[in-house]
Amino acid sequence: MFPITQQGYYGEFGGAYIPEMLYPNIEELQKNYLSIIESDDFQKEFRRLLRDYVGRPTPLYYATRLSEHMGFHIYLKREDLCHTGAHKINNTIGQILLAKRLGKKRIVAETGAGQHGVATATVCALMGMECIVFMGELDTKRQKPNVDRMRMLGAKVIPATSGSKTLKDATNEAMRFWINNPVDTHYIIGSVVGPHPYPDMVARFHAVISEEIAQQLQSSVGRSEPDYVLACVGGGSNAAGAFYHFYQNSKTKLIGLEAGGHGIHSGMTAATIAVGRVGVLHGSKSLVIQTEDGQVIEPHSISAGLDYPGIGPLHAWLAKSGAASYFPITDEEAMRAGLLCTRLEGIIPAIETAHALAYLPKLNAQSHEIAVVNLSGRGDKDLTTYINYFEEKNML
Ligand SMILES: *Cc1c(COP(=O)(O)O)cnc(C)c1O
Repeated sequence: MFPITQQGYYGEFGGAYIPEMLYPNIEELQKNYLSIIESDDFQKEFRRLLRDYVGRPTPLYYATRLSEHMGFHIYLKREDLCHTGAHKINNTIGQILLAKRLGKKRIVAETGAGQHGVATATVCALMGMECIVFMGELDTKRQKPNVDRMRMLGAKVIPATSGSKTLKDATNEAMRFWINNPVDTHYIIGSVVGPHPYPDMVARFHAVISEEIAQQLQSSVGRSEPDYVLACVGGGSNAAGAFYHFYQNSKTKLIGLEAGGHGIHSGMTAATIAVGRVGVLHGSKSLVIQTEDGQVIEPHSISAGLDYPGIGPLHAWLAKSGAASYFPITDEEAMRAGLLCTRLEGIIPAIETAHALAYLPKLNAQSHEIAVVNLSGRGDKDLTTYINYFEEKNML
């Protein structure tokens, strides 16, 4: 559990920097979220759906061939086996149960690659709620299969046509929609970003990941604490869940891997901890990739799910306090790691996830040590990107 102040700050990062029109919605959430999500009734329904609908607990798999290859023990936490193929549904299940208890009738969400949009459209179908998803116009073209999945699930997908027509713009337009429809709508944010209480709330819904890792490791090797936990970081939700129960445990090193893109000095990167400076984006104070005069710089990553110019405030603070370490991984390193995992384990990881796998050779772990990689999602959605990349480089 990460320490957070009443106002939603982790150290200097966090808070709620919102237009006045959003005060009522945010205040309603701030006042009610903890008592609702900690209630027995909520926890019972949340746990039941995680078990019977999402398919939890997800396996903690000992990756034999990958371990042999790297020279230390590697376990993969199989979030790719969650319903809809990634960790994101842990959060959308939690938030839709909260929205129901707040009497909301409609859900609005933003999405980049479409994974969060699909996870949101899925739980809206499950609960019979209206669903509106904003998606950058460019992304609707790059990620057409996910647009089709959302439409089949009954969601209305609205292309965001402002700015660079990607995730940042979709987030702006989803927030604008919420401002105009404050009473009956809940906004499901897809990561540990946004104004307080979103970062804390989303982290709590994903905390089940580290809770299970500890239990599963205890029963398989007789200790609950791994030496390392590795996770990729876009906004930082899967990493927050994987770190949650290991924070402040002196044994476990927490390592987040960011999208370095073409390299952190190339101008084409999404490695916010590496190159970002303090700023406010989408309602919270954190690190932001920006120009000298505070204009947000368009990020780049080969993986759409990490292609975001900000980062959750709790990660900005974990990095600054030294409680976790963050490293950039280039597009090329990630793609190679994705292929290696596929060939050694028969598991095609999401390109996002491949960023976490790419750090294994640099970990310098001892042969008796245990590293857990949070396998945040499956790579089916990325097949075209993988194949085009490998064909171009003659790697297949
Ligand atoms: C969305 C996504 C991510 C990045 O989001 P976080 O909030 O940083 O976890 C990582 N992996 C997968 C598979 C995703 O779909």
